[in-house]
Amino acid sequence: MAGTGEVGLLERLLEACPDCIVTVGRDWRFRYANQRAVALLGGPAFLGKDLFEYFPGNLEEPFVSTYRTAMDEKKAGAFEAYYAAPLSCWFKVRAEPDVDGILIYFSDITTRKEAEIREQMVAARLSQVMDVTSDAIFSVDRDWRFLLLNRRASELIDPAGQLLGKVLWDEFPLMTARVKEFYRLAMEEGVAGGFVEFYPQPLNMWFEVQLQPGPEGLVVFFRDVTERKEREARLEDEQALVEAVYKSTPVALALLDRETLRFLNANDKTAEILGVAKEEILGLGLDGISLGKKLMPLLKDVAAGHAHRDVVQEVDGRVFSANLSPVFNHDGEVRAIAAAVTELTQQRRSEAALIQSEKLAAVGRLASSISHEINNPLEAITNLLYLIAVDETLPEGLKVYVHMAQSEVSRVSQIATQTLRFHRQAVAPTKVTAKQLVGAVVQLYTGRLANSGIRVEEDYATGTEILCFENDIRQVLNNLIANAIDAMRKGGRIVVRAHDGTRVRDDRRGVRLTIADTGHGMSPETLRRVYEPFFTTKDLNGTGLGLWISAGIVERHQGTMTVRSKVGKGTVFTLFLPCEEVAMGDMAGEISQG
Ligand code: ADP
Ligand code: MG
Repeated sequence: MAGTGEVGLLERLLEACPDCIVTVGRDWRFRYANQRAVALLGGPAFLGKDLFEYFPGNLEEPFVSTYRTAMDEKKAGAFEAYYAAPLSCWFKVRAEPDVDGILIYFSDITTRKEAEIREQMVAARLSQVMDVTSDAIFSVDRDWRFLLLNRRASELIDPAGQLLGKVLWDEFPLMTARVKEFYRLAMEEGVAGGFVEFYPQPLNMWFEVQLQPGPEGLVVFFRDVTERKEREARLEDEQALVEAVYKSTPVALALLDRETLRFLNANDKTAEILGVAKEEILGLGLDGISLGKKLMPLLKDVAAGHAHRDVVQEVDGRVFSANLSPVFNHDGEVRAIAAAVTELTQQRRSEAALIQSEKLAAVGRLASSISHEINNPLEAITNLLYLIAVDETLPEGLKVYVHMAQSEVSRVSQIATQTLRFHRQAVAPTKVTAKQLVGAVVQLYTGRLANSGIRVEEDYATGTEILCFENDIRQVLNNLIANAIDAMRKGGRIVVRAHDGTRVRDDRRGVRLTIADTGHGMSPETLRRVYEPFFTTKDLNGTGLGLWISAGIVERHQGTMTVRSKVGKGTVFTLFLPCEEVAMGDMAGEISQG
């Protein structure tokens, strides 16, 4: 093959070529090989040999068909292929037709090929990893076009699989200015950043996003945090609700330190109930509060881990119901005490009022049944007394007693049928003086007064006639005198005074009657309750109805009754009765005590 001139130059060129070069004749025998080819194919032994015989078997597709095409059809072809043992190489091959055969260029590309394969494997693994990670990932190039989306990203933002190659801003036009600024910073200034943001329709999702800048653009890691955000929002709502309830509930709620029993926290109602400014409550000790003092023994028990429910306490005339529970920490130790307190005072009052009206109803029924039952015997007594009174043989001395008996019996029947039943008196009111009213009553009690060693002093500075239902007013006086006697078991004095007067409240003129005793007096509690029906301090000896009935009578006369009393000193009842004609029942009187 060696030569001179053009051939020599050609040969030198072929030797300098970085590829391996061989030529094959029409008879498929190797005719020429450059040094590189000789070296790669393991020596010059193949020269002159038949290509298919020298590389039998192993020379399979695409080698065979490319060579035959070049030889028979004079068409060039190229491929990359692996040639197994003995060479075990990757070849890049090009076959070209020649005047009398073919020319084959080839090179060993094993190193590059293996790197490529490795790269492919890494890429495959990477995409596997990207697909299994729970993060959604996409990347955009420097023109904001989608380069890649992993499986999770496709599920979330590209279920139709059409985002690749599209521009981010065109596909998601509703991104906020804040978000756009994050993207811009990442892309233009290489600042990695993250944010949480809601994306409206069609996604309607909350995303947590991380931007990772790189040379080709941005890699965006993101996840759907809608559920978490919604839960947070719900929690916030719940918290707001709890706070609102805490502030506005009519229940006093407080948290107390377990050791010092000082307030750690308290709502407005607590401050209100305690009558303390809200700011002053924190740090306040329970020992400075009446209710706190009463609950103290229980609180010690609560601090030991026991809850107490519906504890009712009366403090300074107010009634409270408390629920006390220990608050535990993780270790099951009592950390604090939670107290929920409601005030029952008002409720108790209305309950009492209810009981009162029930009692009244009972009295009404009782009264009407009594009057019904005793009317007949009373009538009999009245008739019998009449017969006695008209008897000619009755001694004069007894007649006085019979008349007294008659008038008392008639009063009893009036009480029975009218006063107790609260019926309006059928008869017209009469005019009487204070002296006439009181005199008859005192006379009635002559015996008892003497027995108890009680002196009665009467002082009438008025002769004014009062228009009233005589029997009713007498019953009032009757009860006042009887009560005075009851209050003076060891003797004493009853002073009855009457004078004209004017009522301050409405300038009405009338007669003011005072009945004072030097008896044991009343405690403030008793004084407060004297007009209650059935309130008595006399056990079985009292009905507790006397003053209650009196109050009703005085009221119907538009009168006023007041009482002052001091334990150990005595009691003064003052009765004011207007003297002008009054339309009975039009105006309520006033009953008070002091
Ligand atoms: P009663 O006489 O049946 O007890 P009252 O309504 O007349 O019922 O009186 C109610 C209570 O008022 C008495 O039980 C008594 O405790 C008290 N009270 C009334 N008047 C006097 C008084 N003059 N001195 C002391 N206590 C009195
Ligand atoms: Mg009485």
